[in-house]
Amino acid sequence: MNTAYQSLCARLMMAGVPDARFDAVQLYKFVTGRDPRLDNGPTPDEASSLRVLGERRAAREPLQYLLGEWDFMDFTLKVGRGVLCPRADSEVVCEAAIELLKDAEAPVVYDLCAGTGCLGLGIARHLPGAAVTCVEKSADAWPYLTANVAGTGVQAVQDDIFTYYNRLPSGGADLIISNPPYLTAEEMAHLMPETAREPAMALEAGEDGLVFYRALAQHYKNALCPGGALVLEIGWQQREAVTALLAENGWAEIRCIQDFGGNDRCVTARRPK
Ligand code: GLN
Repeated sequence: MNTAYQSLCARLMMAGVPDARFDAVQLYKFVTGRDPRLDNGPTPDEASSLRVLGERRAAREPLQYLLGEWDFMDFTLKVGRGVLCPRADSEVVCEAAIELLKDAEAPVVYDLCAGTGCLGLGIARHLPGAAVTCVEKSADAWPYLTANVAGTGVQAVQDDIFTYYNRLPSGGADLIISNPPYLTAEEMAHLMPETAREPAMALEAGEDGLVFYRALAQHYKNALCPGGALVLEIGWQQREAVTALLAENGWAEIRCIQDFGGNDRCVTARRPK
């Protein structure tokens, strides 16, 4: 009977942690390297580390931050305080971009508001010929991004997407992907405790949640070659607003793709040929 593991589960459940058992297994493995369900118990040192991490998780620090890394598609990213955790929902966004680029030989790709770099890195892994640049403004997210791109050939640039388009050559890009901040003021006021520990800068997008989409729709068409694609992650209620913004700004072939949960999650469009 592994009583340390049992009490960790109980502690997390009492704190209202959504997947308490899963999180307890992950924390136990992280500290001991062993599966708690096949283990007699931690050493005294392991038990004290486990108690500290258990309390932090009970205080609703994201599991991802406690573990320091998290999987996305078929690879692992460094994460921690100051950067948005990669989410499974974003995998469909990355896959949509890979599909749009599958016939391109050496596509030039920008991941704007890159955070950990998950989207740009996912593209680079699946399309080794792609030249990918990840753009991130946050000084807090920057160390994670540079650690994640190290050795991959993906470039990282610290810049602000509200002005970065001025530095891009006209027609030079084949695809622009972005998971920008997209929460409304109302949503920001009702975050899950874990999301509230993530950087507001990666989440909040003005009263209506659309300020980043407005900038992307208005200013980034010219950076793409004719027929070049824009791939955006959106919130589950933003399909109409984002497709309307793109249509108003002269984008073509506007489509929406659902995530694994069946919610609208990705909008794609092209610069007209
Ligand atoms: N998907 C995130 C959430 O639901 C939001 C990410 C974003 O704003 N880009 O909290």
